[in-house]
Amino acid sequence: MLALGIDIGGSGIKGAIVDTESGKLVSERLRLATPSPADRPAVLKVVRELIEELGWSDGPAGIGFPGPIHRQIVCTAANLDPSLVGVNFQEELKGLLKGPVRVLNDADAAAFAEMRLGEGLAYARSGTVLILTVGTGIGTSLFSDGTLVPNLEMGHVEYMGQDAEQYVSERARKENDLSWKKWGKRFNGFLEYMEFLLQPDFIILGGGGVKRFDKIVDQIAISTPFALAKFGNQAGIIGAAIASVRKK
Ligand code: BGC
Repeated sequence: MLALGIDIGGSGIKGAIVDTESGKLVSERLRLATPSPADRPAVLKVVRELIEELGWSDGPAGIGFPGPIHRQIVCTAANLDPSLVGVNFQEELKGLLKGPVRVLNDADAAAFAEMRLGEGLAYARSGTVLILTVGTGIGTSLFSDGTLVPNLEMGHVEYMGQDAEQYVSERARKENDLSWKKWGKRFNGFLEYMEFLLQPDFIILGGGGVKRFDKIVDQIAISTPFALAKFGNQAGIIGAAIASVRKK
């Protein structure tokens, strides 16, 4: 089945039409810059533009948002403007999207892609899998025995005296001009903390921040088996589309 997948991120808003059985993109992947300030009207405008450019209207659509989502409503927006809190994308896009719309956390969306068609397949029915997306923020998602535990938000636990993502995200690496070695050590420390707190069977690492994983691989010393996301940076788009057509 075909579905639209949208991934709202701190620096780009991306979308494509996805074959949800194979995970392949069947349209071009569009990327529009996240507006600054990323407030409610500006973000909605870009999302509408993206949907119009992709010419999607009647079929299912999934939207990954960089914050926890409860019953389709945005709860927090740490890396976007606070005016987005309370937005119901389903309602806002009603005129444009006539099919079913599902909004979910962006890391949960990426996790859907990996658990259903990617690196998590071996744990599709049993085991605990932690999926991390590294970008402007740190997204975390947990699947337990094949079921999503939504809105994990481990990127905001206190780590080294601060909000974890401010210490270990890709943005933290860039803004503080950290060497790969230094950042790799920080990232490994955070992974070890996650291992200790969640005891996963398997960890999947995704997001733009691990594109240069080769630069930090020597610093990674966790004992849990791990893999890089099969769908890389597109996991968010693909997973949002998949989540819009399947409940679990
Ligand atoms: C948000 C998460 C999101 C992550 C990655 C964090 O700041 O709180 O919900 O998954 O960034 O975008």
